[in-house]
Formats: sequence, structure tokens, C-alpha cells
Amino acid sequence: MLKKPILFTPGPTPIPPEVSLAEAAPMIHHRTPEFSRIIAELKNDLKYLFQTQEGEVYTFSSSGTGAMEACIANLLTKKSKALVILGGKFGERWAELCEAFGVETVTINVEYGKVVKPEAVEAALKKDRDIKVVFAAQCETSTGVLHDIEAIASITKRYSILLAVDAITGVGIHPLLMDTWGVDVAVTGSQKGCMIPPGLALVAVRPTAWQAIEKADLPRFYWDLRKMRDALKKDTTPFTPAISLVRALKVAVDMIKKEGLENVWQRHAHMAYATREGVKALGLELYAQSPCNILTAVKVPKGLDGEAFIKRLKNDYGIWFAEGQEEMKGKIFRIAHVGYMNDFDILTAISAVERGLYEAGYPVEIGKGVATAQKCLLKSEIPKEAKKKPVPAPL
Ligand SMILES: *Cc1c(COP(=O)(O)O)cnc(C)c1O
Repeated sequence: MLKKPILFTPGPTPIPPEVSLAEAAPMIHHRTPEFSRIIAELKNDLKYLFQTQEGEVYTFSSSGTGAMEACIANLLTKKSKALVILGGKFGERWAELCEAFGVETVTINVEYGKVVKPEAVEAALKKDRDIKVVFAAQCETSTGVLHDIEAIASITKRYSILLAVDAITGVGIHPLLMDTWGVDVAVTGSQKGCMIPPGLALVAVRPTAWQAIEKADLPRFYWDLRKMRDALKKDTTPFTPAISLVRALKVAVDMIKKEGLENVWQRHAHMAYATREGVKALGLELYAQSPCNILTAVKVPKGLDGEAFIKRLKNDYGIWFAEGQEEMKGKIFRIAHVGYMNDFDILTAISAVERGLYEAGYPVEIGKGVATAQKCLLKSEIPKEAKKKPVPAPL
């Protein structure tokens, strides 16, 4: 077969051609009115993306983890305590970052594949009055679980504790209403819902977080949000920005605006629904208790070598699914349906699952998964949860 790589991975993701072209445009200098204009326009666009009018969104040059590090360095003091919701590799990353900065943590253990109970967050806050910040992930990409950030935010708000959310696979995929829900800080990376290559990290900060940012006493220089704030007021950046990626982001965000955030959310809900039903029709089981819409985590069935299956898809078909990470390696595989994708990409993904299973000698009825997904993708078959549209605030 002609090798035509298609990324069904939860970052990096396929890039729209117009975004790639913007990235390839001749270089300009960043201390120019031309570049400042892009920053000024993006200022409003990014607020729309994070659904915050009150806050500002700061753009660092790094992968998503850099944005998470910025949260730790800016929100805490040496003596303050943090509450971290675990439950997967990315929840654990918050705890690892706290440890690297010498910040004491209280953790909530969540079994892999399960969703955190908001009551557990409340109980932890009640028990330990020294907690200053709660760190959570909206979508735990390693397990495919969606946590209820709205419910968690309603608790942190009541306790006047800051909430910082890893929305790296939430922004541009799932509703995240920072102002309405009361999320103080949220972060994302460019290679997921933003449809551009890796390399930008976005940190959205509401005014509620600034007192902590001013008081923070952990080491910070590049990640200092105060420098970012002062520069952004003048439509510039404290250091050299990733100029090409920022220009690519502008084009990608324009595409999101044109489609409408509510339609972007619904498209992801619909693609995720069809993917789940498609794999279930093949007799496979889902891994996540409360599945997110960025990816579908599927249990590797008994009698199938999960690693060989993923390798065959990649090497023989050019279809890139993601394996399970660490403990979940060989036990699950993950099909991402994020960003620059539509119904027909979903059919490609499901047909690849079918064919991979068939060629591995696993009993499967060819066409069954695709037929099911196809039916689910028809308009009349939109599931209830995908129809329910939270309305984003306009630009
Ligand atoms: C991708 C991802 C990250 C960040 O990973 P980087 O490799 O640093 O970009 C963090 N959290 C979640 C939930 C993610 O999906």
C-alpha cells in the first residue's frame, strides 16, 4: 500500500494546509507594527478560545508542559501546599512539577480510566486548610477520561482556592468556560485542538489569580507571568516569540472563529461518539468511564498483541494511533479525533481498526464498525450529549 501517514494521535495532529502556508511565509521581525498587530488581534481571539473576557492569555514558546511549569512557578510560595488530582500521566505531571519546585502536595488518587469525584476534592479542601491551589486536568489524555471541571470549579470557588486546569486537550475540543465556571488559570499547547505544530504554550489567567502571582516566591525568569503581562499590554513579548508559529496560530484560530466554537465542540462530540460506537460494534470495549472527545481509549482484547497491532497500522498502513503509556502499554490503544478532522477521517480510523484486527487473525466482521460509525455520523443520529450546546460568549 502507498504509505500516506495520517495522525490519529493526541498531539501532534494533522495541520490545515493554510496553517502550514502561514508558517512558511518569509520571516518578519517581531519588533514591528506588523507583528504587534497579530498579537493585538490574537489577544481577543485567544480570550474567545478560553472563554474569558476578564482574563488575558499569554503565549510562551514551549510544549504544553512549559505552560504547566509556568503555573507552578507563578501561583505558589515555598511554604504553600497544592492539591493535585492524579488518575493518569498528566495528573501525575502536576505532582512531579510540584516536587521539582519543592512544593508540598496533597494528592487525590483516581484509578486509571476512572473519573474524579468532585466530593473527593471538597473533602480534601475541608481537611487541609493550607491548600492554596488545586491542579487538575480536564481531559486525562493518557486514559481518555473527561473530568468535570465545572463541578470542581464550583467547589474551589466556594472555598476561595485557586484552580489551575491542564486544558491542553480541552481547549478547542470541549467546552471550557473560564469566566462562567470560575477557572482561575487554564493552559493549553499548540499541537492539540489548536491545529498547529508543537511549540506554543498558552496560559490563560483571570484577575483572581494575580494576587498569588505577585506573591509567588519560587524561582522564575522565563516563565514569569508578570513580564508577559507587561509586554502584552504593549502588544509585544518579553523575549523573541516563535514568530512562525504565532502567525500559524492566527490562521488556525481564524478557522475556529469562522466555524464557531460551539460547532467545533459539537463536531468533536459527534466524531467521538461515532468512534466509540464504531469500535464497540467490532466487539471492543472502551477504557474510560467518562470518555472525553479528543480521543477514544480502547481496551486491547484478549488474544490480540496490542503492540504488534499498533505497529502494523503504523508501518503497513501509515495510520498512527497512540499506544497506552507506561502501565497501560499493550493494554489499550488510543484513537485521537481532534482538530483538523471530519466525519470521513473517522471512517478511515474505524476501517483501519477493522482491517488491522482482521489481518491479525482476530475474529471481526469486515464493514460492521464502519457501517455503525457511518450511521452515527449522519445528522439524524447525533447523540443527545452532542446536541446539547453550551453557548460560548461571542468575541
Ligand atoms: C499533550 C498533553 C500535555 C503536554 O505535553 P507536551 O508534550 O509538553 O506538549 C499535558 N497534558 C495533557 C492532558 C496533554 O494531552
